[in-house]
Amino acid sequence: SQRVVLITGCSSGIGLRIAVLLAKDEQKRYYVIATMRDLKKKDKLVQAAGDAFGNTLTLQALDVCSDDSVRQCISAVKDRRVDILINNAGVGLLGPVESISLEQMKMVFETNFFGTVRMIKEIMPDMKRRRAGHIIVMSSVMGMQGVVFNDVYTASKFAIEGFCESLAVQLLKFNVKLSLIEPGPVHTEFEAKMMEEVAKMEFPGADADTVRYFKDVYIPSSIDIFEAMGQKPDDIAKCTKKVIESRNPRFRNLTNSLYTPIVAMKYADETGGLSVHTFYNLLFNFGSLMHITMNILKCLTCSCLRRRAISPD
Ligand code: NAD
Repeated sequence: SQRVVLITGCSSGIGLRIAVLLAKDEQKRYYVIATMRDLKKKDKLVQAAGDAFGNTLTLQALDVCSDDSVRQCISAVKDRRVDILINNAGVGLLGPVESISLEQMKMVFETNFFGTVRMIKEIMPDMKRRRAGHIIVMSSVMGMQGVVFNDVYTASKFAIEGFCESLAVQLLKFNVKLSLIEPGPVHTEFEAKMMEEVAKMEFPGADADTVRYFKDVYIPSSIDIFEAMGQKPDDIAKCTKKVIESRNPRFRNLTNSLYTPIVAMKYADETGGLSVHTFYNLLFNFGSLMHITMNILKCLTCSCLRRRAISPD
């Protein structure tokens, strides 16, 4: 029988691609409930879904930041049965900490952390009762490794990683699976939305050096990294489908093998010094050579590390 998949944040990017890929499964193994905050933004999804829309794909309004919205959405699901929950909705935040208000920071946690927790709290009890289910969380390599000027976004992803790492142990007892997807950079509106924000930023409270490091050192190197390492949202969708279809899904799933050395470096030196100094050197001593450095990293990634990531193909 069909497995019911509920996905958050499907109006764009990774969420949209996962919804479409699963709904278009040739064997029709999935019934996709694609949710988004604002149903007025459904056109791109509806168009991409084609014939699947109304058959294996249905739409529902859901704002992960609202108790009422989440409750309403899940009560409308037949028998409240969600076999696979994909927590994808998320927001980014870039910039010097001095310039970001606590209110803005809390909004990021409201969506990325509490939004995911709210979904899990609503759906997990039914999964536990049925002794079946799979919870997927779209984390990020920034959930495992801090990245300069992404302090708050990274913290929100670390928070959800800690939450899931703790919960996964208990869920094993109930035969409920929990998997984190850990993409590196992905070309979606996420990137564009953040660059738009940056262009508007005025940096109140930040000193001139910090602003310069952010605008003239970090931003160009970040653009280089997206160019050199960026994956397509469809790649992440294919990786996610593989995780869902795996008999024994892994807890952490990197989607980009170029990031496996970064994770290996972190675990190779538990004092953290190696990671902090490597990133310092990458940013401040190589500067515009970031692109070259990334290419060297590509060459150095040995095959045994590469195999630690799932490939979209
Ligand atoms: P995106 O901006 O295209 O998609 C994010 C979606 O979440 C949007 O459709 C947005 O409307 C939705 N959303 C935001 N707040 C919401 C709320 N309160 N309720 C419901 N939906 C809400 O970006 P994306 O790259 O597709 O991001 C999807 C996920 O992937 C995010 O969790 C993000 O952190 C993660 N991620 C992205 C990248 C990247 O480089 N793009 C890398 C690693 C992880």
